[in-house]
Amino acid sequence: MTEPAFSFADETNEAETLQRAVEVRVLNRISKPLHYRVPGFLDIPKPGSLVKIPLGRRTEHGIVAPPSKSEIDFPVSKLKNILEVIYPYPVITEDVFNMATWMANYYACSAEAVYERILPSAIRKGAQEKTITFIILTEKGRVFDLSKIEKKAPKQFQLLRLLSQQSDPISKSHLIRALNLSHAVFKALKEKGLIEERLQSQERIGYEDELGKRDAITVKDFDLTEEQGEAVEGICHEIDKAQFSPILLHGVTGSGKTEVYVRAIRHALGKSGGSALFLVPEVALAPQTVSTLKSRLESLGEDVVVWHSHLSDGERRDSWLKIARGESRIVVGARSAIFTPLQNLKLLIVDEEHEPSYKQEETPRYHGRDLAVVRARYNEICCILGSATPSLESLYNVKVGKYKQIRLTKRVDNRELPRVSIVDMRIEYRKNKKEGILSQKLKDALIDRFQKREQSILFLNRRGFSTQMICKACGWVAMSDQCSVPLTYHRRANLLKCHLSGYETPAPRICPECGSTGIRGEGFGTQKLEEIVSQVLPRARVFRIDADTMQKKNLFRHVLSDFRKGKLDILLGTQMIAKGLDFPNVTLVALINADQSLYMEDFRATERTFQLLVQVAGRAGRGEKSGEVIIQTSTPHASPIQFAKRSDFEEFLEEEIELRREFNYPPFRHLIRHLIRCRSLEKVVFFAEKWRNTIEKHFDESTEIRGPIPASVEKLDGEYRYQIWYFTTKVISTVKTIHNVSADFTWDSQIKQSIDVDAMNLI
Ligand code: ADP
Ligand code: ZN
Repeated sequence: MTEPAFSFADETNEAETLQRAVEVRVLNRISKPLHYRVPGFLDIPKPGSLVKIPLGRRTEHGIVAPPSKSEIDFPVSKLKNILEVIYPYPVITEDVFNMATWMANYYACSAEAVYERILPSAIRKGAQEKTITFIILTEKGRVFDLSKIEKKAPKQFQLLRLLSQQSDPISKSHLIRALNLSHAVFKALKEKGLIEERLQSQERIGYEDELGKRDAITVKDFDLTEEQGEAVEGICHEIDKAQFSPILLHGVTGSGKTEVYVRAIRHALGKSGGSALFLVPEVALAPQTVSTLKSRLESLGEDVVVWHSHLSDGERRDSWLKIARGESRIVVGARSAIFTPLQNLKLLIVDEEHEPSYKQEETPRYHGRDLAVVRARYNEICCILGSATPSLESLYNVKVGKYKQIRLTKRVDNRELPRVSIVDMRIEYRKNKKEGILSQKLKDALIDRFQKREQSILFLNRRGFSTQMICKACGWVAMSDQCSVPLTYHRRANLLKCHLSGYETPAPRICPECGSTGIRGEGFGTQKLEEIVSQVLPRARVFRIDADTMQKKNLFRHVLSDFRKGKLDILLGTQMIAKGLDFPNVTLVALINADQSLYMEDFRATERTFQLLVQVAGRAGRGEKSGEVIIQTSTPHASPIQFAKRSDFEEFLEEEIELRREFNYPPFRHLIRHLIRCRSLEKVVFFAEKWRNTIEKHFDESTEIRGPIPASVEKLDGEYRYQIWYFTTKVISTVKTIHNVSADFTWDSQIKQSIDVDAMNLI
């Protein structure tokens, strides 16, 4: 028997070694001894041979954890031209591993749940993959008498011969077709250990390619503005320091943050072959930012992976492996991209850091932005949080010196910020004696823009036709059976819909209570707004964007592209159109109903309203022509509206911080929301009370308990919902206590519950 060209260190248990091994194909002759200590390499392997090296450990969750420092000292990327690493198992990097462990403790979720969610399922199930490729196992590993095989099993021999002539793996389906083979042939050779099947990715034309082409905006290298130049310099300086360094990039809308990001990423990549991760709240809603980044960075010869929820399992796996192998050094994606296995990460960017959609509202309930900061800390690198309207938490972190701040106060080319005017809808009402949707001022402005062939965006944070249906005779209100909210009337389909549970029912013609025909829709949503705008401007091309019209996957991008090309005059819709869009010909933006009540019962109401107003206003006047913003409201004096008019962050911060301090809300304490649900109201109340009495004995003064109280939507999908709040400075220990005590507590089997750390969604 010929000696194998290599052997394993401590090869006691083949199966165990295999599990812990990553397979490596030797590409080139290795003449000098390796600079790296590679366990398993006792001898110098020959080109073409396959070796397995124990790189990392397989955890019980089926993932390959990164090798610990003591285990190995082997930067795969540095050996790229010598070894081709074939990952038989999913791989995560050490920082992701640490981050996931931290996350499991902090967000009160099991590590299983974390891996379950963060690793693409195709990666987790890699071994059972359907697309299978065959390669010959080491030529010298085992010796069979080939002449015997030739005689006894000619088909097997045929296959072996063909495979041995190939330098690259070939797919099974191809072989079956070419040689007219049966599956049994493969099985037999596999059992003999002569061939091995392995998953191999196929090139796919993905969403991102399509995105890149369709929306590709011609890009040139701008001359940076003075502010941009200073920002880039400041950031590059931080990147070079190689320390944990969170920076808030607070730049007004249109200040050219994207350009700053591009330069920072370039710098990070240039230095010692680093990689960079860029998060956006939702890829579909930020097509411009994504395609700008993609085309700018790809023109430098970098491969950019766009990571988002529309990826198919296969695309996800391909991208994951590309990142793991170091073929792609830039990832742009939504929150779950924070888990992608980029090696040698040098820069993390979170765009629109204030966006609540960074929080995942299902288990594991993590916050993408906060995890980004954690990952940056593990890597000791720079993390940029960018926004035109930073979250109060981040502004506060700047104030107390935890974050650095870089400001961009001017729009590029010194374009003016739009003029903002506020229309008091109560005065309109008194004038017209009826509920108006468009004020006279707004009507005039819309007509004016249409005549000048300029474009407008109207914003209304409510879809449907009317907000509720009531009976003028008896006061009946159409309520959802399953949820404690009024149903919304959708006229086109003539349906009443529950926006929380999705429940639908035909709209009645007469009142189900008293039989009166006097039932009416009250309030208004985007459907009605669309109708009214079409009455005012019958010839205008109007498109409505909300969750009802955007059911089709690619429609959003088409509509935006048409709007950009001037094929539409007016875009109207919900907050989907509030952010990240840059249309040079838009000179009018209006907020139809800018009232705080949109966010009632949420301590972030002021903050959200303020941010929304500033963001929406920022869509106006992004081109040569200056912009105008009209805010319609019946509470013109309300502080967020006043702050927004002046875009005054200092004042906002000051006033809001005092309120938060007074009530101990974040950022002064962390807020953990414990939601207890059950179909039986009695049970929910009973167990919530009993739980409170039990748990409160276990906390010291660092944790304050409030509740139980009914959630603001008390009934949802037929379940009653009660909540308990924990205000704490020590999240991890509080979460642990809740878990431990809960394990010994006798809950009713019908009770469901969730723990939401740093809760954002308070309905
Ligand atoms: P922000 O994200 O800060 O709102 P963007 O990055 O979208 O702003 O930039 C606004 C617009 O200004 C974009 O159309 C961008 O191409 C352009 N821009 C950015 N930097 C420059 C520059 N230095 N010179 C000229 N135009 C620029
Ligand atoms: Zn009635």
